[in-house]
Amino acid sequence: MNINKKERLVLASGNAHKIKEIGDMLPEFEVVGYKDLGFNFEIEENGKTFYENALIKAKTVSETLNLPALVDDSGICVDALDGEPGIYSARYAGDGIDEHNNELLLSKMQGVENRKAKFVCCMVFYKTNGEIITATGETHGKIMDSCQGENGFGYDPLFMSDDLGKCLGLASFEEKNTISHRFRAIKALKEKLK
Ligand code: IMP
Repeated sequence: MNINKKERLVLASGNAHKIKEIGDMLPEFEVVGYKDLGFNFEIEENGKTFYENALIKAKTVSETLNLPALVDDSGICVDALDGEPGIYSARYAGDGIDEHNNELLLSKMQGVENRKAKFVCCMVFYKTNGEIITATGETHGKIMDSCQGENGFGYDPLFMSDDLGKCLGLASFEEKNTISHRFRAIKALKEKLK
């Protein structure tokens, strides 16, 4: 496909933050959330890796809507917790509420010295002919002792970015988008699409 030609790309995510972040990074495309195209059933993410989950979503959405689909599967991996919550980041505390996930992570990290963590993003671009292009991005940092700031979403208020030297909860949209795992995955994906 020609990355320079503006065409419609369906993003298999219902997360408005992610749709905005990714749309901003891909001005070449008209990025549309799958729920805006009438796709209204939940997809069971029963993969064991970010890649497997991204592929399940991308394939289902692309085949259902007959459009090229882009999916990001992402999460936070904490060294001291053996990579937890990882693929379970969205529902770590069980109810899908960001504040509860952050409280649980904070409680597990109480008194833990090694605070190293990373956000990981696996992108899968699934074409209507079944071709798969994939890329991964990471951004590194540390888990803070308490939440800071109101910006971003998910674990951003607990993540001290090594690149920015500030918590993502305090980073502007533009600052986050220059160092984020999603930005890095998209950049690598664009290279492959060229
Ligand atoms: P997914 O939608 O299944 O990929 O789940 C991703 C989950 O990982 C989100 O619900 C957040 O909890 C977390 N996450 C992914 N990316 C970010 C980010 O950029 N900032 C904060 N949390 C994130």
